[in-house]
Amino acid sequence: MSVEIRRDYMIDRYVVFAPSRSRRPSDFKVVAATEHGSDRCPFCAGKEEETPPATYLVLKKDGEYAIGKDEAGKERLKGWLVRVIPNLYPAFSTATGPLTQPPKGLPAPKQAYGYHEVLVESPVHDQHFWVAPEEQRRLVLRAVIDRVRAFSEDKKIRSIMPFRNHGRDAGASLSHAHTQIVASEHVPPVLAEEAGAFASGFSLSSLAESEMGSPRAIYSNASFYAFASWAGTTPYSYMIVPKKQDPSPLSADLEGLSDVLSKTLNSLSRVLNDPPFNLVWHIAPLPWSDHGDFHWHIEVYPKLSIWAGYEIGSGTYINVVTPEEAARYLRAGIR
Ligand code: AMP
Ligand code: ZN
Repeated sequence: MSVEIRRDYMIDRYVVFAPSRSRRPSDFKVVAATEHGSDRCPFCAGKEEETPPATYLVLKKDGEYAIGKDEAGKERLKGWLVRVIPNLYPAFSTATGPLTQPPKGLPAPKQAYGYHEVLVESPVHDQHFWVAPEEQRRLVLRAVIDRVRAFSEDKKIRSIMPFRNHGRDAGASLSHAHTQIVASEHVPPVLAEEAGAFASGFSLSSLAESEMGSPRAIYSNASFYAFASWAGTTPYSYMIVPKKQDPSPLSADLEGLSDVLSKTLNSLSRVLNDPPFNLVWHIAPLPWSDHGDFHWHIEVYPKLSIWAGYEIGSGTYINVVTPEEAARYLRAGIR
């Protein structure tokens, strides 16, 4: 194959595939991303006082799951299975303060209004999603959906983005199993561009169906597809797409989502030796009634290469592994 430039499915972003520089999975020589728990981890069970009060907790009482939260001024609840807390160093906040004077002729900055939470996926430090028992995985997904719903009730919020950083090279500062959620008044340009594509008739349903008949197919179950992205910006990046078109995941089949996520992440972990990665939920901008044709989905970006001068300066990416080759390995890794 010659070097080849491809456009993203939805947005005006380009990736050059240069497979002559290609490498097999073992050539990435990834050092395992997971580290063992340390006494200093503030997300481990027993360290509840080191975080802000939980906004959402899953507890088990008399064999039944119950949702709770910490009360301000009271001792933090213990014995939780999933725990959601405000990020101690938030990127978006409802707190107001003075704003900086802009350069002449430029628009004034605005308050970065919103919420930034950490969803601790387990009391056990390294119980990551793809090794967690099925019951725990469902509690995690239920918690993500419940927080998305809660943020969607704030009429100022225009975008909600759950994401997961795994491994130091993917930006994780703490190795405890966790997801973050940013809910903001700001609509990130990637989401806005995707919304534009859907509004002008792009169908992720028919795209996904056709990708599943291509060499990029990875896995599917009754309600989800997984395939390597045609123009993925990083080696081994892939998409998870629900079969049912919906702007938000509020009524997603969580059993199917748990299955497709755990199987594909497990394969990724096995094929590349627990690589660092970022996983991002793409949910329609709000109000969802204005984006009825948006098709929510998840994108996974393993962090196996460094974005250097060309990528940073140009916004066009170079990827040395074709999605066709990545999918072959990821399919073989599914158990
Ligand atoms: P990550 O950046 O993916 O490692 O996510 C960890 C997040 O937890 C970071 O964004 C930190 O700002 C946040 N964080 C660190 N320590 C605490 C703490 N004690 N309580 C709440 N959030 C924290
Ligand atoms: Zn921990």
